[in-house]
Amino acid sequence: MGMEINGQAKDQGAPSPVDLILQQRRDASQGVLQPSGDGSLFSQLANNPLFTAGFGLAGLTAGLGLAQKGVRHGAALLRRRMLVDVEISIKDDSYAWFLHWMTLYQQSQLHGARSAVGNTGFMESLLQKFTPGMRHLSIQTQKVEHSNGAIHTHFTLIPGPGKHVLRYKNAFIFVNRVRESKSRDHQTGRPWETVTLTTLYSHRHIFEDLFTEAHAYAAKSHEGKTSIYNSWGAEWRQFGQPRRKRPIESVILDKGVKERIVADVKDFMGSHQWYYDRGIPYRRGYLLYGPPGSGKSSFIQALAGELDYDIAILNLSERGLTDDRLNHLLTIIPNRTLVLLEDVDAAFSNRRVQTDSDGYRGANVTFSGLLNALDGVASAEERIIFLTTNHVERLDEALVRPGRVDMTVRFGEATRYQVGCLWDRFYGEFDTEGSYKEAFLKRLEELGLVEDADGRKPDRSRSTSTAALQGLFLYNKGNMEGAIEMAEALVHNVYEE
Ligand code: ADP
Repeated sequence: MGMEINGQAKDQGAPSPVDLILQQRRDASQGVLQPSGDGSLFSQLANNPLFTAGFGLAGLTAGLGLAQKGVRHGAALLRRRMLVDVEISIKDDSYAWFLHWMTLYQQSQLHGARSAVGNTGFMESLLQKFTPGMRHLSIQTQKVEHSNGAIHTHFTLIPGPGKHVLRYKNAFIFVNRVRESKSRDHQTGRPWETVTLTTLYSHRHIFEDLFTEAHAYAAKSHEGKTSIYNSWGAEWRQFGQPRRKRPIESVILDKGVKERIVADVKDFMGSHQWYYDRGIPYRRGYLLYGPPGSGKSSFIQALAGELDYDIAILNLSERGLTDDRLNHLLTIIPNRTLVLLEDVDAAFSNRRVQTDSDGYRGANVTFSGLLNALDGVASAEERIIFLTTNHVERLDEALVRPGRVDMTVRFGEATRYQVGCLWDRFYGEFDTEGSYKEAFLKRLEELGLVEDADGRKPDRSRSTSTAALQGLFLYNKGNMEGAIEMAEALVHNVYEE
């Protein structure tokens, strides 16, 4: 955490990465009620010949008003002198992780206090009354649609709009979550929100601990995971909960292919200065093409895990994805995120702005729109883009140009090498001699699905995909004979659906 809160702080600091606005109010020069004349208001009044019964009453009321004003000013002064605020806006990354951390922290505090006193009904109600906990909560719902159609819904409770009190390391922190009713985020249409944390000036150092803890919590819950972003209007939104990283070993490509791509990406990632020195935009594009089920998407997901990156996925055949939207989305990619543009061939069937049968104009990305978006406004940010297609023949060669596509890789039908590796992953522990693997390969050879041991290729029309093989092995989990017996089914690719 790069946050720093200074003793004799200036009015604000803008600490990275949380982009906090630290409002230190120590300006005591305003709003102070000054005593007048000799300092005694009453002595002045007493000497005043006009201070008669009638005027006296009016004067007293005025005096009372003045005193009230004084108290108000005094409180404001006290606040300015003694308190310190940190404001976080909804746009800041720390917004979500602070609220989640606060919920968990409060729950653990409440739980700790409960177990300390025993969990009687009376104590329970007493605790609820006096423990500085949260009375207003908001619900955050995330839906994850699985490929089998199941929808899994995940709820998280976070502090709702309003005022909360948090006790953290002997300091009381007032938390005010404010939702603006008038202003909205013009990109997302969501109401504008801020959270302000206030504590005593003398406790200002706890903010650093607090944000370090909240950030560590967020990082931990993301550890070993890959977040997937989808486009949502003009912005990227996280799709469901972060997923467990897919181990790169679980994706079986032909000999050396995986290593070649991984080495290239890593080399690119270490070449920032090289690009910078030569004034070349720091981006790299990869085109992966081949039949469906050859592992293109799986590989990119595994690569993201390997690099500790997230993925932002956009399908170019998605309706309503205009050139402008694509362009905009590519300029606001979250940090450490690979971009995956699926079905890029879709842009090539829309060379000109098309009118759909129902008259919906310009519903899809056009060819020139895609090229413009890839060329991008000269962004200094690193950009790694993967393009995938099942129909490479539909692409235009203008796409394969440095900066747009720097590396093209075919993901093909399963080769003998891949079949062997996949077999080992599924049955390696049972097939210690490798004899079943040999039998399986022999069977695929007979069926003309893989090349023979001398590398003679089968008829192209008879091939199988790695996805189909995975299907066969899954169906015959732990049953090698079953897999060999059923191998013929691969000819018809019955598992590929
Ligand atoms: P594509 O993007 O090429 O259409 P996917 O990556 O979506 O293919 O693969 C579909 C399914 O098949 C996934 O469940 C994946 O695990 C499996 N699969 C396909 N190819 C491979 C491969 N080369 N190695 C491991 N699994 C694969």
